[in-house]
Amino acid sequence: MATERSKRIIVIGGGISGLAAAHRLVEIAAREGINLELVLLEASTRLGGVIRTFRQDDFIFECGPDSFITQKPWAVNLCQRLELAEQIVQTSEKCRRTYVAFGGKLHPLPEGFMMLAPTRWMPFLRSSLFTWGGKLRMAADLLLPAKPIIQDESLADFVVRRLGRQALERIAQPMVGGIYTADPAQLSMKASMPIFLELEKTYGSVIRGMWHQERQRRRSTPGVQSTGGQGESGARYSLFVTLKDGLDVLVDTLAERLPEGSIAYDSAVARIARAHNGINWTVTLDNGQSITGDAVIVCTPAYKTATMVAEVDPDLRALLASISFASSAVLTLIYNRTDISHPLDGFGFVVPAVEGCSIIACTFSNIKFPGRAPDSKVILRVFLGGALQPHIFALSDDEIEGVVQQDLKTYLGVQALPQLSLLSRHPLSMPQFHVGHLNLVAQIQDKVSRLPGLALAGNSYLGVGIPDCIHSGELAAESMLAYLTHNTK
Ligand SMILES: Cc1cc2nc3c(=O)[nH]c(=O)nc-3n(C[C@H](O)[C@H](O)[C@H](O)COP(=O)(O)OP(=O)(O)OC[C@H]3O[C@@H](n4cnc5c(N)ncnc54)[C@H](O)[C@@H]3O)c2cc1C
Repeated sequence: MATERSKRIIVIGGGISGLAAAHRLVEIAAREGINLELVLLEASTRLGGVIRTFRQDDFIFECGPDSFITQKPWAVNLCQRLELAEQIVQTSEKCRRTYVAFGGKLHPLPEGFMMLAPTRWMPFLRSSLFTWGGKLRMAADLLLPAKPIIQDESLADFVVRRLGRQALERIAQPMVGGIYTADPAQLSMKASMPIFLELEKTYGSVIRGMWHQERQRRRSTPGVQSTGGQGESGARYSLFVTLKDGLDVLVDTLAERLPEGSIAYDSAVARIARAHNGINWTVTLDNGQSITGDAVIVCTPAYKTATMVAEVDPDLRALLASISFASSAVLTLIYNRTDISHPLDGFGFVVPAVEGCSIIACTFSNIKFPGRAPDSKVILRVFLGGALQPHIFALSDDEIEGVVQQDLKTYLGVQALPQLSLLSRHPLSMPQFHVGHLNLVAQIQDKVSRLPGLALAGNSYLGVGIPDCIHSGELAAESMLAYLTHNTK
């Protein structure tokens, strides 16, 4: 009896998106008895993309992402399937507070403040972060008429329209713009914060909508208090979690689950083309070698994917190339606790662009997540660069350290030089979801749907966070297996 020919699927890019895609292929193939040959092509000598954990003595810290959100279930689900649930670490129970830098000092984000607007009056009214005029303007959101959602708008336009300029400059830009390292005047509301558009549409006001949601949440999880940006997402996990031994454990575990010999390092892909039979795909590497597969999943940043597909569809190339990217960096600094005068009674602080400082955000890493360093030490994780501060990314390593240390002196009263410092640069790592991004993605999806056997995944399309990347990789894997099994029936 002839055995069915194996199906070769080529995954390009070994970041979390590509690994999630490859793992999902293997998972489904094993479950459904599909004869799969997996090839994962990674340009560098390591997996994980921007995910990289650093360990030394009793210290453990992240040089790229440091945590993931649990409201989007895909990362937690994957950890559970990989038997990594025991590794999941919640944010510390103590000090669930975020600070905002303004006027040269740190102000606590008012308790109950959820991304853009307050859900609790008293902490908001007492807050030193806003003037009385600013508070009144935010409260006007309760009275202003709702605008029907027809077209996309920028974060800046939406927040100024509903909540006023102080809400934009002191909260929305650093909290939301910071996550996307984006210019709020360009960041798409529909692609980044669609929930707030929905709240406006449903309740006529962002604040009223958030009150309603908060009441519902309390009813469904009694006893759970709102703690602002760092609060609980449900009974089981805190809003953000990490892995006990570092996020690269997720990368390593995924790699271990792939068939032996399926990962090719140092294999940068130059281009993709239809094979001679007009059905399969030929992938050509920078070194001229080529490999043919039944399907290809491309999990590289859009600007790299654009070059690869240039010959297949020049219009698709142009659409992909129109997604711009910003560069970011993480500077990790380790100090003696006694060298810092601030009580560090929070998870860290965000810095509005109007402060004119070098830092986008600073996390007190071993306070946010326990077990990262001895108690006598502090790990500060400083996030830099982005669309608003390319000039900071352009500085030399020494210059970056110098300006950051000056700013840390201002906000935290840091008195000494760090015991250890490590700068990790991530050039062109953050896709910018500009106004109209979802339309652009729909056009890209339309073009790709006309190229059977090709799928795209990664942070460039529908979400930058780790859970979104995992989801996009898994969906691409499912669609390619469905295509191949359907085609051979
Ligand atoms: C500094 C920083 C902090 C972040 N913090 C968080 C956070 O705390 N929480 C969170 O959820 N998200 C965070 N993010 C976002 C999230 O980490 C990323 O969006 C996500 O990890 C991207 O994964 P990816 O696989 O799509 O892309 P990448 O990680 O960029 O991986 C792409 C891979 O493709 C490879 N590649 C590139 N070109 C080629 C080629 N021609 N051929 C073959 N391979 C190629 C690369 O070498 C790389 O391994 C952060 C991002 C950065 C940069």
